[in-house]
Amino acid sequence: MGWILRVIDSFSAAHFLREYQGACENLHGHNWRVELEVVGDELDETGLLVDFKRLKAVLKEVLDVLDHRLLNEIPPFDRVNPSSENIARFIFCEAGKRLPESVKVKSVAVWESDRACAVYFED
Ligand SMILES: [Zn+2]
Repeated sequence: MGWILRVIDSFSAAHFLREYQGACENLHGHNWRVELEVVGDELDETGLLVDFKRLKAVLKEVLDVLDHRLLNEIPPFDRVNPSSENIARFIFCEAGKRLPESVKVKSVAVWESDRACAVYFED
């Protein structure tokens, strides 16, 4: 029982994948679409789980770190591959640090194209 809120934003960045055979080993860009889902079971006096405005600001703050950058130069992606899977986990952790205690990140979906996305979640 509880509520799930979801906000969507996007960022543009370049990356390449190390130790990968195929198109993604060469430097190229994506317009990534990111869906952040949070969950909680208690509403405030206003009837909100968390203000959408705040949620959008949290996601934007995290994506601003990645936007218009070469991801391979930004920690932790200078060490771990900037795959959509790893980007989703990064956003999950960074968003979690910025959220009020009343909500938890449930999942982060990272779309690298219209037809392919990676979702990170923790049990
Ligand atoms: Zn790629």
